[in-house]
Amino acid sequence: MTSRWQPTLESTGCNACGSRKGRTLFAHDRHGLGLATDLCLRCGLLYLNPRPTAAAYADFYEHAYETYFPSRARLIAHQNIPADTALRRIEAYRELLPPGSRVLELGAGDGAFLRALATLPQVDAAGVEPSTLCHRICRELGGRIIANSLEDLPRPAAPYTHAAAFHVLEHCVNPVETLRALGAQLAEGGTLFVEVPNLRGHWRGLGMIHLAHPMMFLPDSLRYVVERAGFAVEKLEELETPLLECSLRVVARKQANVSAAPVAPDLASLESLFRQRLRWWRLDRCRYQVQGWFIALKEHYANHDHRGGRLRRRPSDQSSGRSRARSAGL
Ligand SMILES: [Zn+2]
Repeated sequence: MTSRWQPTLESTGCNACGSRKGRTLFAHDRHGLGLATDLCLRCGLLYLNPRPTAAAYADFYEHAYETYFPSRARLIAHQNIPADTALRRIEAYRELLPPGSRVLELGAGDGAFLRALATLPQVDAAGVEPSTLCHRICRELGGRIIANSLEDLPRPAAPYTHAAAFHVLEHCVNPVETLRALGAQLAEGGTLFVEVPNLRGHWRGLGMIHLAHPMMFLPDSLRYVVERAGFAVEKLEELETPLLECSLRVVARKQANVSAAPVAPDLASLESLFRQRLRWWRLDRCRYQVQGWFIALKEHYANHDHRGGRLRRRPSDQSSGRSRARSAGL
C-alpha cells in the first residue's frame, strides 16, 4: 500500500503553544510512513512529528485518501454515514439553539447535521465542506453547502450565531488558526460546538494514529486550543456513549480577551497509557493492511465485468471518493 504514495515529511513543534519541547510517545503509525506521535510537554497537545508538509497533505487529500482509508471512503460514497449521530447531537445541543439561530458547520460532510438542524424551529444552517463528492451527496439529500473552505467564505451580511466543527480539528495542522477563522464568522458572544476524539478515552490500537490525524487532543489541551482561538469554554465533556464514544465535546462562547493558560501534561501516565493501548500495534497494522487489500479486491470486482474471460471496466457515475478527512467524524 505504502509504495503507491509517500508523503514529504517535515519536523514540527507544537502548533498550540509554539513550544518545541516534545516527547515521543509512539514512534510508528498505522501505515508505516515514519510518523511519530509527540506530546507537547508545555500544553499537552499530541501531534505527528515528523508529519507530511502542507503540500503533501493537499496532494494526499486530492489523490491518495482512498488508498489509505478505503473503508472510510466507501462509507462516504455509499451515503452510510449514520444520521443517528446527527440526531444525538441535536438532542445534546437543542437547548442552545433557540428560534432565529444561524448555524455554520465546518466539515459538514454529507450534511447529516445540517438536515437534522432543519428539524428545529426557525434554525438556519449552512456548511463548509472541501469534498466535491460530499457536496453532491449533500445536495441530493438536502443541505446547504456554501463553500469549500473557510478561506472561500465571504463575511456574512449578518454574522452567524453558532458554529460547529465535529471531528475536524484533529485533521487540521493548525487548529488554533482554524478556530479563529471560524470565530471570525461568528457574532460576539456566539456559541461554538466542537467535538474531537479523546486520547484519554476508550481507544485501543492504531485507529487513532495515522497521517489524517496530525493533531490529537486531551481534555486540557483541547480547552487550551479553544481558549487561544478566542472562546471562553463553558462546558467540556468526555463522551463514551454509543455513536459518540471516545470523544471530547466543548461548548464555548466567542469572547474578547479570553485568557489561555497551558496545563502541563502528566507525562508518566500518558507514556503508560500509550504503551498499554498500543501493545498490539504490529498485529493491528497487519489487520488494516489485509482489510485494505480485501476492500480493494471487492471494489475491483464490483467495478469490472469479468464475464466471458474479458476484463472491462463497468460504466459508473460515481465520482472519486476524494477525501473529506478534515470533515465531520471520518
Ligand atoms: Zn504546546
